[in-house]
Amino acid sequence: MSTQQIRFSETGGPEVMRLVETEQPRPAADEVVIENRAIGLNFIDIYYRTGLYPTDLPSGLGTEGAGVVVAVGADVSDFAEGDRVAYAMGPLGAYATHVAMPARVVIALPADVDFETAAAGMLKGLTAQYLLRQTHRLVAGETIVFHAAAGGVGSIACQWAAALGARVIGTVSSPEKAGIARDNGAWQTIDYTKESVPERVMALTDGAGVPVVYDSVGRDTWADSLACLQKRGLMVSFGNASGPVEGVNLVELNRGGSLFVTRPSLGGYADTRARYEMMCADLFAVLASGDVRVPIGQRFDLAEAGAAHTALAERRTTGSTILLP
Ligand code: NDP
Repeated sequence: MSTQQIRFSETGGPEVMRLVETEQPRPAADEVVIENRAIGLNFIDIYYRTGLYPTDLPSGLGTEGAGVVVAVGADVSDFAEGDRVAYAMGPLGAYATHVAMPARVVIALPADVDFETAAAGMLKGLTAQYLLRQTHRLVAGETIVFHAAAGGVGSIACQWAAALGARVIGTVSSPEKAGIARDNGAWQTIDYTKESVPERVMALTDGAGVPVVYDSVGRDTWADSLACLQKRGLMVSFGNASGPVEGVNLVELNRGGSLFVTRPSLGGYADTRARYEMMCADLFAVLASGDVRVPIGQRFDLAEAGAAHTALAERRTTGSTILLP
C-alpha cells in the first residue's frame, strides 16, 4: 500500500522537507505500525531540520502522533490491530500517513482522549508534567515565571500550574498572546518585547523574586531569567526558541544568590517505560478532570508542514499545532 512521509536529506529552511510516496512500513519485532490520524508539531522538529540537533540524513521528521495500530511486530504483546494509541519521543518519522514506532514509546489512548488532543498534547503535556511535578515540585501559593506562556507547552503549563495553586507570571510577545495566557490561568503577563521582565517580576513579588523560572526561549531571556530568581532559586532552561544558551559564566549564579540551574529534557525524565507510563497517567488524569485542556491553535495538512514550521518559527502560532495526514 502506498503511503506518504515527509523526509529531508539536508539541513536548512522549511523547503528541505519533501513529501514523498513510500511503501507502508513493516513493523520490526519490537514495533507497531500506526496509521496516523493527527501528528504533533514541536519546536524540536525545527532544531532537527536546521541541524541545531544533528541527526543522520536522509531522515523523516517528527516524534509525536496519534492513530490506529494497523500492524504489530512479532515480539509485541501489549498492542493489537485496531487499538487507539499515541506516542511521543519516538524516533524521527512521525510526519507521515503511516509510521513504525517502537512499542516502548506507544501508549493506549483512554476513550475520552481524541486523536487530535493526543497528538497536540502528549509531548507538550509530558513536558509540563516533569517541569511542574518533578524538576521543581510546585506547591500551592508559589509564584513562578513561565516564558512563552501562550505557546504549546506554555498553554498547558499555565493551566496545570494554576490547578496546583501556583501563581504564574507568563511572558508573551503581544496583547493577543497575553489574553490567551490569562485565559489559560496565568495570574499576570509580561510582554517581554516591551517591558523589563526582572523589573515587573520584582514589582509583582514585593522585591522577593520567584523560586523558579521556566525558560524555553534560551539565548534572549537567559540573563533576565536569572535576575528574576530569589536567593537559591532554580533556573530551568529547557529550550532554545531564540537560540541556544552558550558561554555561561558560573560566577553569575553566585552573584544571583547561590542559584541553581538545570537543563532538562523529556527523555531524561521519561527514561524508563515505568516512568513514561506514570507521567502519561498523570497527564491523562488532568485531562480527564478538566484541569487541563489542550488548545489547538492551528491545523495544517501534512503536505503543508513547511508552512507550519514557518508559522511556529515566526512566533505566529498559539497553543499547539497539529498536522493532519
Ligand atoms: P511554542 O508553541 O512555545 O513556540 C515557541 C514560542 O517561543 C513562540 O511562540 C514565541 O512565543 C517564543 N519565542 C520567543 N523568542 C522566540 C524566537 N526568537 N523565535 C521563535 N519563538 C520565540 O513551542 P513548543 O510548545 O513546541 O515548545 C516550547 C519550547 O519548549 C521550545 O523551546 C522547545 O524546544 C521546548 N521544549 C523542550 C522540551 C524539553 O524536554 N526540554 C520538550 C518540549 C519542548 P512569544 O511570541 O510569546 O514570545
